[in-house]
Amino acid sequence: MTKSYFSIDFTLKGEFIKEMSDRVQGEPMDMDRHDFELDELIERIKSNDNRLVALQVPEGLKMQALDMMDAIEEETSAKIILAADPCYGACDLVHDKMQRMGVELVAHMGHSQMNIDSGMPTQFINVTYEGDPAIDPVLPILAQHHAIAEQRLAEAQSGQSVDSEEAQERFLDAVGRVAPLTGTKLGLVGSIQHLHLIFDYKERLEAAGFEVEVPVGGARLTFPGQVLGCNYSGDQDDIGHYLFLGSGDFHPIGLVLHTGKPLAMLDPYSGDAEEMSFERIERILRQRFGLIMACDKAQSFGILIGEKPGQMRRTLALRMKKMLEKHGKKGYLLALEHIGPELIDFYPVDAFVNTACPRIAIDDSVRYAKPLITPFELEVALGEKQWETGYQFDEIP
Ligand code: SF4
Repeated sequence: MTKSYFSIDFTLKGEFIKEMSDRVQGEPMDMDRHDFELDELIERIKSNDNRLVALQVPEGLKMQALDMMDAIEEETSAKIILAADPCYGACDLVHDKMQRMGVELVAHMGHSQMNIDSGMPTQFINVTYEGDPAIDPVLPILAQHHAIAEQRLAEAQSGQSVDSEEAQERFLDAVGRVAPLTGTKLGLVGSIQHLHLIFDYKERLEAAGFEVEVPVGGARLTFPGQVLGCNYSGDQDDIGHYLFLGSGDFHPIGLVLHTGKPLAMLDPYSGDAEEMSFERIERILRQRFGLIMACDKAQSFGILIGEKPGQMRRTLALRMKKMLEKHGKKGYLLALEHIGPELIDFYPVDAFVNTACPRIAIDDSVRYAKPLITPFELEVALGEKQWETGYQFDEIP
């Protein structure tokens, strides 16, 4: 791997880095071990002879963006425009507005390509971290989780059906639906800046006695082992538990809500190992259930549609409106580029259902004055789906 084109001091936030947010906010990062792969961008600008390039960086890199602009302008004959609006993921590529400004190329840092077409030529700039923690601290957690997976597999193979009371009990105990397990492999996943190490870790974990799978997800994901806050499509029935290589709990929370499987975390920055506790997930599920109950008597809903290219789920929003009408309730379609309490709280509706970034409802609902729920949660509130048969994470495929 090429070493950093240049190295800068920064604090990371945003989707690129939401998984690090618990640890990182306000903390300086170890920049010597980060690699900003700007070389390919500079080569592309030179070979295309681009004259106007938009640079899009995660929120935590904005302070250093001017240094990057200087560096690119010094190496090329292009002028760089910073796309200075908030950016939380590759779902949020700058598009037509920059085209109207005459921008020829978008340079998007810290996220990977997903299955969207922004209509603009785009160069994705990887940022990788060379942190290489020992696996020893996480092995006892993985051994416990493997035992849970074996027990679950044995239950699944016994074919015993469970009554609704037991299903609810298990649901609360076991963080989600009872997964249709066919195996007990260890699923190895990570956040994007650590994925270059994933097959090295696979070998180390296999040497420690685990059967390891690096899951390959769908079109929204670029790399083996990659997860996003809105997509865990690599999950397989023969994976019984997970190890997440990364920092913070943003991706782990989503992965456990999506799969219901035990998950351990190994932090490349600190070398610390821990697990995503059932209590934590149970607290989140109780909060979600409380919000569903709070929608019980709601008559009118604002249905939020994200305008960002990789968040727009118009068909889902229209389906929610139709479903509300079927139940004699009113749904108002509200399209927004950015979503925040100050932009929606004042509408005279009883609650909101969110079809934009799924994590807005899951992670931020306490910031809103009215209940903010996911499409699945609306279906439960209206009696179209059952809570007891398992929580369905709101995934964008
Ligand atoms: S839609 Fe997905 S990729 Fe975009 S900010 Fe939300 S979680 Fe991240």
